[in-house]
Amino acid sequence: MQPAAIAIEHLTKHYGALKAVDDLSLTVHPGEFFGLLGPNGAGKTTTISAIVGLVRNDGGQIRVMGHDVQADYRQARRIVGLSAQEYNFDRYLSIEDVLIYQAGYFGIPTAIARPRAHTLLKQFGLFEKRDVDYLKLSGGMKRRLTIARALIHEPKVLILDEPTAGTDVALRLELWQQLRELNRQGLTIVLTTHYLEEAEELCKRIAIMREGRIVALDETKRLIGGATGQTLTVHLSGPLTELPLAWQDRLAHVTQTDEQITVTGVQPADVGPLLAALGDAVTGVSLTQRNLQDLFLELTGERLPETDEATA
Ligand code: ATP
Repeated sequence: MQPAAIAIEHLTKHYGALKAVDDLSLTVHPGEFFGLLGPNGAGKTTTISAIVGLVRNDGGQIRVMGHDVQADYRQARRIVGLSAQEYNFDRYLSIEDVLIYQAGYFGIPTAIARPRAHTLLKQFGLFEKRDVDYLKLSGGMKRRLTIARALIHEPKVLILDEPTAGTDVALRLELWQQLRELNRQGLTIVLTTHYLEEAEELCKRIAIMREGRIVALDETKRLIGGATGQTLTVHLSGPLTELPLAWQDRLAHVTQTDEQITVTGVQPADVGPLLAALGDAVTGVSLTQRNLQDLFLELTGERLPETDEATA
């Protein structure tokens, strides 16, 4: 059987007293496009850093295509390409040499690395800039350079830490297209993002992290399917002694106060009969659409930026 692309078992990482990752287990399948979401400080970057051996875990085990990232570091590292959040390019190298230098780190000779670098620079629209240093690139170009550099040793797994942070809408769409194509060609991709829309668009499965733990993990469609639906709020003239009996079992997601009943995930067909059952107690009704943003808010207590706000 083919090993998991990434198998994380009971990963724990402390920074002093702070538990940045707390007993996290996660499997990413070969060829999968996987999303890791969570508010600032949830532990996403720490988890990614542990996968590529940049951070040493205090507990647990991580294997990349069957190779333990600590015991078998070189093999495991060779399989993964990391596009980090922060830029750490050498400012004295041209961007072409940035790629060639990175290839050398994996033992790839210049004669092989140079044509590969040219292909990647063309693919990411950077070929014209190949002779300049990275400080002369725009923010979006620097982002693309980090991805090109992550691909220079032809990894089987690509990890992207916020690949489209700060990019404009057009570039984001272009990057999505490129990432989709790379995934279609068989590359396993894991990305962290603050843009739900991005995760929704690209990822087959999504994990949502909070305080070092995974609080939701499912196929994107199922996660969104479970998150969407209508929320019915019924305002009441006064406290009900109890919800009409017939409804207690049917409505799994009911919260009730003296003056209000809120039903999440309600089916449209249930609205009329429920109101009829409540009868004269009803003084007002509202129906709102729930989405992934609401789910994220419930699970993490935080709201993610809307894509367009974030790029403004
Ligand atoms: P963001 O979305 O802001 O990138 P994140 O989910 O990637 O956040 P991490 O960067 O993994 O979160 O941080 C998890 C926690 O660990 C945070 O509380 C952070 O302050 C802390 N932390 C991260 N790196 C270090 C470090 N080198 N030293 C001390 N604390 C750290």
